Amino acid sequence: MARGQSILDRDKIMTKALRRATRKKNEARNTSPLLPDGQIVIMDSINPGRRIEAKLLRLRRKGGRDAIVSLECPYCCRPMVWDPRWNAFKCTGAHKGIYELVG
Ligand SMILES: [Zn+2]
Repeated sequence: MARGQSILDRDKIMTKALRRATRKKNEARNTSPLLPDGQIVIMDSINPGRRIEAKLLRLRRKGGRDAIVSLECPYCCRPMVWDPRWNAFKCTGAHKGIYELVG
């Protein structure tokens, strides 16, 4: 019996399973919010209290529902993308504004 071979195979299978699990975790973490019914309202995380209506730039079809990919920044009009670390939309512009989704 080629013992070394089977250990190698097992390692290969483990690596594959681990990679799959990591990818699944990343996908779950990168989940951008679903498109709300009606208007998209955001709030500047630095200056909360003021509700701003956001313009939708890009959508992604996800499990029969629409998820927001990017919104237009109300400050510099550049696209804002979902940042799972902040649980908010982050502007890709130089000022790096962070806007929370309201509601
Ligand atoms: Zn901006």
